[in-house]
Amino acid sequence: MEKQKLLYEGKAKKVYATQDPKLLIVAYKDDATAFNGQKKGTIQGKGAINNRMTNLLMARLEREGIPTHLVEELSDRETLVKKVSIIPVEVIVRNIAAGSFSKRYGVEEGLEFDAPTLEFSYKNDALGDPLLNDDHIFALGLASREELALVRKYALDVNRLLKEIWRACGVILVDFKVEFGRLENGTIVLADEISPDTCRLWDAKTREKLDKDRFRRDLGGVEAAYAQVMERLAKGL
Ligand code: ADP
Ligand code: UDP
Repeated sequence: MEKQKLLYEGKAKKVYATQDPKLLIVAYKDDATAFNGQKKGTIQGKGAINNRMTNLLMARLEREGIPTHLVEELSDRETLVKKVSIIPVEVIVRNIAAGSFSKRYGVEEGLEFDAPTLEFSYKNDALGDPLLNDDHIFALGLASREELALVRKYALDVNRLLKEIWRACGVILVDFKVEFGRLENGTIVLADEISPDTCRLWDAKTREKLDKDRFRRDLGGVEAAYAQVMERLAKGL
């Protein structure tokens, strides 16, 4: 399968059409952004790591019963995926308070929740990805009740499975964002990516940050952190 027309260039990936109208090729870039695009930079080698990590994790989730868009890894940066119509809702699952949750509610980073906490935000850069509750999602017509119930279930299943996978690698899964989409027949599948760009990952022993917060907060060692979590996952899986 080969890349045809560039359909979309996002902040971290390019999306291409293929000869098959049901399939797309996503190409991962080294570009990094934070704070709704205000901070820009490059993380050398990130594209290849995010591509490989997303595919390893999605293949594992698929085996565990979560439908995903993954078809086949084509090269170190490119992957063939099923084309979906993305549900424009960022689904965030949190196990430990951090980032915008800590800021918004004034709780210290590191507070562990009794149960995973689900949060939705509207995938809309112009509006700054505002928070959504279930009723907002229905009012805006972003998903049906049945779809949202399934998205919730999948998101919590993904959290349970990813937490276990990362624990076996000596890494704490603090929080993450996932996106879901609809295939032509309406089936909901997990789409987009699962990587240090979209997850908070802390070393289980030292609680050192091994994710995009190193870039967001100018902590240094960004490339090394991405390489380290990738290596740990490859060994641990
Ligand atoms: P952003 O749009 O936030 O800048 P990216 O640079 O990662 O993000 O661009 C990738 C885009 O492709 C995202 O908008 C994402 O929702 C979309 N996408 C991910 N998987 C699929 C898929 N299987 N089918 C269609 N679109 C997808
Ligand atoms: N996240 C993401 N894309 C976004 C917003 C958040 O991948 O547009 C991820 C982020 O990496 C973290 C989790 O979702 O793992 C929760 O992020 P948070 O709401 O704390 O926002 P942030 O601190 O990134 O502003």
